Amino acid sequence: MNTQEVIALFDKYVIGNYGRLPKVITKGLNNKLWDLEGNEILDMFPGWAVSGIGHCHPKVVQAVQKQAAELLHMDNTFYTLQQGQLAKMLSERGFGGKSFFCNSGAEANEAALKLARKHTPREKYKFITAEKSFHGRTFATVTATGQPKYHEGFLPLPAGFVYVPYNDIDALQEAFDDEVAAVMIEPIQGEGGVHEATAEYMQTIRDLCDEHRALMILDEVQTGMGRTGRWFGYQHYEVTPDIITLAKSLGGGLAIGAMMARPEIAASLVPGTHASTFGGNPLACAAGIAVIEAIEQEELIDNTNKMGQYAREKLEQLKQAYPVIDHIRGKGLMLGIQLTLPGSTIVSRCLKKGLRINCTQETVLRFMPSMTVTREEIDNAVGILDEALNEEE
Ligand SMILES: *Cc1c(COP(=O)(O)O)cnc(C)c1O
Repeated sequence: MNTQEVIALFDKYVIGNYGRLPKVITKGLNNKLWDLEGNEILDMFPGWAVSGIGHCHPKVVQAVQKQAAELLHMDNTFYTLQQGQLAKMLSERGFGGKSFFCNSGAEANEAALKLARKHTPREKYKFITAEKSFHGRTFATVTATGQPKYHEGFLPLPAGFVYVPYNDIDALQEAFDDEVAAVMIEPIQGEGGVHEATAEYMQTIRDLCDEHRALMILDEVQTGMGRTGRWFGYQHYEVTPDIITLAKSLGGGLAIGAMMARPEIAASLVPGTHASTFGGNPLACAAGIAVIEAIEQEELIDNTNKMGQYAREKLEQLKQAYPVIDHIRGKGLMLGIQLTLPGSTIVSRCLKKGLRINCTQETVLRFMPSMTVTREEIDNAVGILDEALNEEE
């Protein structure tokens, strides 16, 4: 089959809920992809942050192959070694929490919202989330997502969600009362355009949650697992959350999500209150363990900080040449390029030249390479972006 034939197959048999780029991808290795015709693509947005240590990392592939031959799936009727080990590794790198495992970011956030309602008294039912946030597509998480465009056509939404402008301390104080069960926020908004929470904002969330006995939930589905130059995004701040949620790069390409909560809060999820059939299966957990081992053995957090700094310098240079670049923002390898015009044509032009980047919120290019990225790959990527911007003038 050629590309046109695969696309025809999709048109006929796959639900058209994604706007896809016209390429069929058949192979990935580290920061490269290959399409059906054998063209090579430099991937600076691998798997929407899922392939955080590159495509098909050899340590992950090896761990998955070994585990697949031993035990693919085991339900939570029993114990497995891998689930316990991964939970311990996350706890030790985080705030000593206990984990519940599921299969995606949305499910991890669902679990966090349910735990917040379960753990707090009955009169506490409200969730405060931010405008331009992104928390997933299930009914509760799409409602938590503070973007009206994702709500369109799905009303009425579950009750209890209150939205505040991100980083606005006054608005947060205004919205808070004793009916709030939890605040859910991203340390850096990803889909919302790479916006970082200020230190003052994070501290205010912590203080208000303590004052009103509400829980502080950080959605680290995108910022977790080293992306920002620390294991978790909250570690750039002086605050400790009550719950964090993880997914995306946690499994190095396998579907896995996790919610980690402080032990005294986690204790509210007694048997019968929440569950996931596939959650914490040995295959996904073996992959998660391999991801953490690879990050440490190959010092990838250190590389994230170095390459994040380097990429930023290169992009700042590009900004000097192109007035359409307003500014660069972000942390580690989670970088956003704020343009003064829509970015989708630039993304398409880059792809034709063999570079994959992403555009969100119409005018923000997202540059989020894997933690294994090299100087040379950044140079190549910025070179192609330079050409694409040059055609814009
Ligand atoms: C991607 C994302 C989600 C949703 O994850 P899924 O695995 O697609 O359900 C939730 N929160 C944030 C911050 C994300 O980036």
